[in-house]
Amino acid sequence: MERSSANLWRKINSRYNLVGCKCQNCGALYFPSRVVCRKCGRDSKITEARFSGNGVISSYTNIRVPPDSFKEEAPYTIAIVKLDEGPSVEGHVVESGGEVKIGSRVRAVFRKMYVEGDEGLIYYHYKFELA
Ligand SMILES: [Zn+2]
Repeated sequence: MERSSANLWRKINSRYNLVGCKCQNCGALYFPSRVVCRKCGRDSKITEARFSGNGVISSYTNIRVPPDSFKEEAPYTIAIVKLDEGPSVEGHVVESGGEVKIGSRVRAVFRKMYVEGDEGLIYYHYKFELA
């Protein structure tokens, strides 16, 4: 795994701000970001693209038996969200009182993801809430 600060920053930027990319050659949008466009190959002209975080749930599941890092959150919902700009992304759905359904409108929010280790290092990430 690459440990450079630039790589770390890219990951943080993408997690915090939903930054993916756009191929300026054909207009295709990707999240997470790619180095080469799937359609254009060597003709790719990739630039950074920030997504609104608004979209629609296209699939979801409820997790009752989570990995250790999320055991305090269970049960919780994981959804595939089709962003308004096109790409689909996976994310946790935060408890917001409404009923999660296929077709529900959601927006991305910035939330605590998990706490790691004895030092309590907190990781943040985008999640989705019903809009
Ligand atoms: Zn392209």
